[in-house]
Amino acid sequence: MALFLDRDGVINVRPPMDYVKKPSEWALLPGVAAALVQLSSMFDRIVVVTNQAGVGKGLMSEEDLAVIHQLMLDQIGEAGGRIDAVYYCPHRREAACDCRKPATGMAMQAKIQFPDIDFSRSWMVGDSASDMVFGQNLGMKTVLIAGKYEEAEILAEMQVDYRFDGLLDFVRFLRGC
Ligand SMILES: [Zn+2]
Repeated sequence: MALFLDRDGVINVRPPMDYVKKPSEWALLPGVAAALVQLSSMFDRIVVVTNQAGVGKGLMSEEDLAVIHQLMLDQIGEAGGRIDAVYYCPHRREAACDCRKPATGMAMQAKIQFPDIDFSRSWMVGDSASDMVFGQNLGMKTVLIAGKYEEAEILAEMQVDYRFDGLLDFVRFLRGC
């Protein structure tokens, strides 16, 4: 099984209407490190797929983003967990690229790097409508993490497979399966 994770609002605290542009703005959400330790033993592959249009808007560089992602990998690794790969879309919405979620380009990148990934046996965990549509487009199970108040109305009406308050609640659910 493979686990696809959105980043902001799922792994780290999401700055409202903003981007994490430097390490000082990065903070793991409570319970995430512990959750990823357990998820690492449950999933063959764990990958992050994140829209980072702040790059395309010139608010940060790809080097800045690489520093932040290394910090994330270090924190999870030091806790005893694992993230196998991080894919990001640096483009603005207006670029109409094929990698900005809900487009599926980042999943295709993951499939190239890890041919063993089977989307029909994969899970997408995110906090936004674009994450849920991304997962549905690929035939994945979808898990919505609560908290994105800007999309509260659309998210309340969306058909998703599961809803949890955080990654640790998702782990508890899987443990009970
Ligand atoms: Zn893109």
